[in-house]
Amino acid sequence: MTWSPRSTVHGIAWPAVPDPATSTLLAVAWQLDQTQWWPSDELARHQQLQLAQVLAHARASTAHYADTFAAAGCAPSSDPGAPFDPEAWARVPVMTREQLIAAGPRLASRAYPSTHGRIDEVVTSRTSGEPVRVRTTGVTGLLWKAITLRDHAWHRRDLRARLGTIRHVADGGAAPPDGARAAGWGPATAPLAPDAPVSALSVASTTEEQVAWLVREDPAYLVVYPTVLDAMLTVIARTGARVPSLRQVRTISEALSPDTRARCAEILGVPLVDTYSAQEVGYLALQCPDHPHYHVQAERLLVEILDDHGAPCPPGAIGRVVVTDLHNFATPLIRYDLGDFAEVGPPCPCGRGLPVLTRIVGRRRGMLRYPDGRTAWPVFTVACRQAARYRQCQLVQDADLALRLRVVPEPGLAIDDAARAALVAALRRALGHPFAVTIEVVDALDRSPAGKLEEFVSRVAPSR
Ligand SMILES: [Zn+2]
Repeated sequence: MTWSPRSTVHGIAWPAVPDPATSTLLAVAWQLDQTQWWPSDELARHQQLQLAQVLAHARASTAHYADTFAAAGCAPSSDPGAPFDPEAWARVPVMTREQLIAAGPRLASRAYPSTHGRIDEVVTSRTSGEPVRVRTTGVTGLLWKAITLRDHAWHRRDLRARLGTIRHVADGGAAPPDGARAAGWGPATAPLAPDAPVSALSVASTTEEQVAWLVREDPAYLVVYPTVLDAMLTVIARTGARVPSLRQVRTISEALSPDTRARCAEILGVPLVDTYSAQEVGYLALQCPDHPHYHVQAERLLVEILDDHGAPCPPGAIGRVVVTDLHNFATPLIRYDLGDFAEVGPPCPCGRGLPVLTRIVGRRRGMLRYPDGRTAWPVFTVACRQAARYRQCQLVQDADLALRLRVVPEPGLAIDDAARAALVAALRRALGHPFAVTIEVVDALDRSPAGKLEEFVSRVAPSR
């Protein structure tokens, strides 16, 4: 990583003496460089110290947590220095997205400490109906920047090189075919490499437009949603398009399938680096520099992977992701169920003490239901791709458990009866059950308001 901050002292060019905001960011980033190597028990001990602070604040200054802790008989001590009590912690109820929406202003702190800086609001539209509203603070913003720098450092990015992004852009910006160009990758790197070139294209563009734009802009790094990348890879493989400067693809926002990671290496010849984040809390986990699994950002969040009985999952097990924000003093989030699932991994051979998630398996609505009540994260994209040629597909499970495969054909290449039969057979084989399947040929697949495309959509009522 080659960069240096700008010096703000007259006549001092190097080493730079940066402005106070940049110095603070670099001071936090420096601490993260040290703490990543701490043993896991040392990290856990410091998490508990910080947890006590946020619990005492939430209890004292929000109506929601005052009531919740009292009702559950797990009131944390008002003394942040009191020892951590794991039994009391286990009684703190998990809060669902629906409960967060219902709690509304009762979650907001009435005694926000001004030293935490400016409050902003993030509004997420992942659920249908009411959006989730969470306030963020100067401190959570600072930590977000520091972890962004950690991600760049872990994956050895040249902060001066061209960054290409294909994502949701508000108000029709970065429209195809040309997209838009700008200077500076974003707020985290602005003080270090303010002139780094950026090329942006709205995700509201066709796959052909995306590939043509990528070839033309030829960035060193590409940030993209996994499903968008997957469709681009199909076109790139077919057309032999080349992107000579590309060094790395970064995926965000959606659950990444191992198939997409393998195809990226095979077709583009560059590694793929995935990130696991949520708008409400920022980064949950970053990909290890040396392995394709993820390290929980334990300095920032307490991430619990819990089974159906609320107990922590052992390595190898998949559970729901429950997160506690250790630093948000505006909207405290304690044991918040994001609706995602992840698999716990054993300690990483890289030596970092940060906990490991082997994979992120998406949202509960992404679980396939079998007639006997079993659920599974459906893996079907490889099988379907081998069965027939098409542009994109999305699998929908309706309330009666029947499946609909919505298929966008390649231009000029119809999905005929043979292809339909092959897709039905491939799906049943991949899912290990003779589901009723219909094939629906469509012109395009709808994205969510945030631009996400779900590979699998369940319309089955949750069993919780
Ligand atoms: Zn590692």
